[in-house]
Amino acid sequence: MGYSAWFQCIKGCSERYPLDDVIYQCRNCGALLEVVHDMGELKKKSAREWMDTFDDRIHKNLWPYGSGVWGKKEWICPNIDNENVVSLYEGNTNLFWAERFGKDIGLENLWIKMCGNSHSGSFKDLGMTVLVSMVKQMIANGKKINAVACASTGDTSAALATYCAAAGIQSIVFLPKGKVSIAQLIQPIANGSLVLSIETDFDGCMEIVQKICSDHNIYLANSMNSLRVEGQKTVSVEIAQQFDWNVPDVIIIPGGNLGNVSALGKGFLMLKDLGIIDKLPRIVVAQAERANPLYLSYKTGFKEFKPIVARQTLANAIQIGNPVSYEKAIKTLKIFNGIVEQATEDELSNAAAKGDKYGMFNCPHTGVALAVLFKLLKSGEIDSKEKVVVISTAHGLKFTDFKKDYHEGKIEGVNSRYANLPVQLPADIDKIKGVIYERIEKNKA
Ligand SMILES: *Cc1c(COP(=O)(O)O)cnc(C)c1O
Ligand SMILES: [Zn+2]
Repeated sequence: MGYSAWFQCIKGCSERYPLDDVIYQCRNCGALLEVVHDMGELKKKSAREWMDTFDDRIHKNLWPYGSGVWGKKEWICPNIDNENVVSLYEGNTNLFWAERFGKDIGLENLWIKMCGNSHSGSFKDLGMTVLVSMVKQMIANGKKINAVACASTGDTSAALATYCAAAGIQSIVFLPKGKVSIAQLIQPIANGSLVLSIETDFDGCMEIVQKICSDHNIYLANSMNSLRVEGQKTVSVEIAQQFDWNVPDVIIIPGGNLGNVSALGKGFLMLKDLGIIDKLPRIVVAQAERANPLYLSYKTGFKEFKPIVARQTLANAIQIGNPVSYEKAIKTLKIFNGIVEQATEDELSNAAAKGDKYGMFNCPHTGVALAVLFKLLKSGEIDSKEKVVVISTAHGLKFTDFKKDYHEGKIEGVNSRYANLPVQLPADIDKIKGVIYERIEKNKA
């Protein structure tokens, strides 16, 4: 098995760096790196053989191939020995047809990919399993790594902490003070991470962690480390596989640091290159209006990109003004006939709540994606006949404070159109019946 992959500069510098090098940027020009695969070797297997291989492995227990990520190991990180893989059997999340919800908004074919139904409750697990596995392998091969660190808006730190705990590696997380939910904060605490609550925003934490990681053998786990992108790209392969190796027309993903939109694109390009699909979906990035640098760039036709200072948004995982992966994102959107749209706090909150009314349990970022879908349907940029997949990025249970405030009508600037409050009643059968019968009548009306 001669599969191999290496780091290479996204700007086209020719140097190759091994995946177990501690390197995040091109030594020549400073641009980000990406993982490049020996496609010639992968093409020795036919499209049919790859599809059969992946279909055979799914949900089985042969280590580590039952994982949604490691089931595609040759395409992701063939260089890691199976005994060094740190997996919690991530991925393989459900993709479901939201039939009634779709009908309500005028879309026949709305599908939701529930990436938040994962070990740490967000899709960050997909990339973190790859990164932490590489660290384990580096340590096994005698490299000196004292700890792994990341700046986070909440979900990256939760994923890093859980995988490091599983592997017995110290994690260090830098969180912007007061800007993550209690559930997100308690995850790294519970997993034994060194949790640093810093008086700054995410972009500030990102600057600090890069400096910290430049010495004392502390390895950087942010998505500028493109090992994570390789794991995240399995979302595309899973979506295709779940549609019997077909692609939808449109995919909507919420974007902050913008590593994930390029991961999504990278997965589809690989599927096409290896002959499994012959068309590409359109990719839509959904941003919060309060953290919208990519949207502003899109409005200039991507002629310029200016970092901004992100304002506080309920969609805290995408509250990022200076995204490290914007160049990769723009490159991807140009290939995928991309769209960028934004959502206000009111729009994202009500969209999340509306989805919940149809049986989902949304995080605010998925709310941003749904709000953007409503807007694009209205403007005609998405057609009612198109097959649309919304990527739901985190589990709603991480954001119960957001939901509680929403239903209590306590979020400033948000008109809670779907508020549903508990009814306080004495233990009196007649009064209780009265309230129940009133609701039943109201539903009939
Ligand atoms: C990280 C994250 C995103 C955005 O991904 P980026 O790669 O930063 O653009 C969206 N939603 C959730 C829940 C996340 O944790
Ligand atoms: Zn370069």
